[in-house]
Amino acid sequence: MKPGIVNPKGPGKSKPRLHASIKKDTVNPSDYLKYDTRFSCEDCSHFDSEKVLCTIGYNPIHHLKATQTRQYELAGNMAFCRFLEID
Ligand code: SF4
Repeated sequence: MKPGIVNPKGPGKSKPRLHASIKKDTVNPSDYLKYDTRFSCEDCSHFDSEKVLCTIGYNPIHHLKATQTRQYELAGNMAFCRFLEID
């Protein structure tokens, strides 16, 4: 038997994730098409568009418009930032 951490899923299986994946919410397709919504970093008061960073310290990668659109087109859901603020 090899020393090291035992994979709880069993030998030969992929390793468990070290971090939980980000929560994504399902989006109703008719709502997505009907409404001109504001829910990406580019719409947020905390977003620095020149540096592409969140000024309150969150990782914006999951909430950028392009990422949200891609995720929606792939799976019909997307990650919404709970700290989005629009002035
Ligand atoms: S608060 Fe959320 S939506 Fe706003 S810039 Fe930061 S990560 Fe993006």
